[in-house]
Amino acid sequence: MTTYHIIGAGIAGASIAYHLLQLNQKVFIYDRDDIGQATKASAGIICPWTSQRRNKKWYRLVKEGAKYYPQFIDELEALTDMQTGYRQRGALCLFKDDYIQGLAYERIKAKQKEAPEMGKVLKLTAEELTTYHPSMTTEYPAVYVEGGAQVNGFSLLTALKQAIIQLGGQWHTQSVNPQTLDGTIIYTAGAWSNEYAATPQVRHQRAELLEVMLHEAPLADVAPVVMGLGPMYIVPTTKNHYMIGTTHEDTTSFNMNDSPENRDYLFTQIKRYFKETPLKKGISSIGFRPLTDENLPYIGPSGQLFVVNGLGSSGLTAAPVIGREVAHYLTGKKTVLDLTDYH
Ligand SMILES: Cc1cc2nc3c(=O)[nH]c(=O)nc-3n(C[C@H](O)[C@H](O)[C@H](O)COP(=O)(O)OP(=O)(O)OC[C@H]3O[C@@H](n4cnc5c(N)ncnc54)[C@H](O)[C@@H]3O)c2cc1C
Repeated sequence: MTTYHIIGAGIAGASIAYHLLQLNQKVFIYDRDDIGQATKASAGIICPWTSQRRNKKWYRLVKEGAKYYPQFIDELEALTDMQTGYRQRGALCLFKDDYIQGLAYERIKAKQKEAPEMGKVLKLTAEELTTYHPSMTTEYPAVYVEGGAQVNGFSLLTALKQAIIQLGGQWHTQSVNPQTLDGTIIYTAGAWSNEYAATPQVRHQRAELLEVMLHEAPLADVAPVVMGLGPMYIVPTTKNHYMIGTTHEDTTSFNMNDSPENRDYLFTQIKRYFKETPLKKGISSIGFRPLTDENLPYIGPSGQLFVVNGLGSSGLTAAPVIGREVAHYLTGKKTVLDLTDYH
């Protein structure tokens, strides 16, 4: 039996470990839980079909990721008896006007045939929007995608860690030098990757989310996730509490201080989406998105290491299926995706 050593256990490393253990492999995990880990900071939106990105390799990966999620979560929650915050309440994409909404509807609807897991795709008038989200403004027409979902990155990772330990994996809360290890070394270090792997070159983006609370609003405990205009999104957490995002700052630093400018920017942006409802700022959540130069995840060898990195802004969506596929690939089983597309 091969021994696997996994260095870095955000969602990428933890998903690979979990799937290798399900195939009865011997797995050691080393994770130092750096502040700014992307997985715990993530908004957790699982809705790849509405993206305008045209890269086919990326789309194949995230489409397969969203398809796999319900089964992955059912099995993980049943094994651990823990909650991951996964809920499939649909996604609303808002548009500036009816013309843009019409074009987007055609583009999104066209994906339904190959991705039936999207469920219903509906065109909503600005007024109809409030049937799905009572606190929303009536200014923007929308497209509703029934299969849109969200997951809580922190809870998901906690459940995965529990499952890994239950399945016999050994979890160490420190770093390790790969040169001291025997066996297959899987390096899933997120934004910290350049310590041991020259390929791929990983850069990172600092991303900040802001929690907002709504007062005097109808309780929106079944609200879908909302993709606003441009890069804005609104993710319900608890009743009338939302995480809103996001900022994109290319940086080489790992500065974790929340910035008053970012908080003000997000707060100003978000006000346009809610009706005449008082809003209050809450905490900020900050993380570092790992990116490759091609903006495509890297999955493959790099010297003596097997590297998975560059999951970018869709890593929560893609990582469980990457975990399944990498475990199958490394143990000589058939994969659904062609992993050579990613290295
Ligand atoms: C604010 C924000 C919002 C996001 N929203 C979404 C979303 O809505 N939907 C979506 O699909 N994706 C989203 N993402 C993207 C997703 O979170 C990331 O792509 C994903 O979490 C990256 O996972 P990872 O395991 O590669 O890295 P990370 O989660 O950063 O984990 C890397 C781990 O490796 C450890 N490590 C590094 N080096 C070593 C070492 N030498 N020894 C031991 N441990 C080490 C670190 O401590 C860390 O724990 C978001 C990201 C951010 C930041």
